Amino acid sequence: MKEPITLDTIFLFDLDSTITSKEILPYIASIKGIEKELEKMTEETMKGHLPFRESFLARVDLLKDIPLEEAADVIASVPLNEKLVAFIREHKDICFIITGNLDVWIGKLVERIGLEPDHCFCSTAEVTDGQVTGVEKILDKVAVTTNFERYRVAIGDGNNDIGMIRTAEVGIAFGGVRELSERMKEEADIVCLTEDELIETLNGFLI
Ligand SMILES: [Mg+2]
Repeated sequence: MKEPITLDTIFLFDLDSTITSKEILPYIASIKGIEKELEKMTEETMKGHLPFRESFLARVDLLKDIPLEEAADVIASVPLNEKLVAFIREHKDICFIITGNLDVWIGKLVERIGLEPDHCFCSTAEVTDGQVTGVEKILDKVAVTTNFERYRVAIGDGNNDIGMIRTAEVGIAFGGVRELSERMKEEADIVCLTEDELIETLNGFLI
């Protein structure tokens, strides 16, 4: 196995529109034909116009009647930023996903990305008879970030990542999928606008 050069550095990645090149909830909403509605809510949330918690609960409510298996299969096929995924696979021992998305929806996707389940921190769902019935716990990205006693490089795209990128030693705003909010650009230590720029920046922490 290839050893990372700097053992103390870890990378904390948001999932939606950071590792994936599409937002996951609107993507599964297409099963029900309500992707436009979900897209609008998601964008407003990522720009900071809607509070994450309320918006996430409302969005889960709209999608929870999709059978779990079907939702997980569709999510596992979401388009990814493949060069970034290759970086994560190469350095999987020091890469973690920190996402508000639900455990039961993203498990197969995390496997496809190539990370072990214990390298993914996410929200948890209440499930009855193969169906999501509610949200058990919404992940606190700042609390998870705080718990790592390492040199933390955090990467995200939305306003719900601001706490995480401020808490980490280095916070990177990634605008390769969506346009970053002004606040996100101000709070970040580094702004990367393309996937290539992001990977070059991440590699810089390994030298
Ligand atoms: Mg995101």
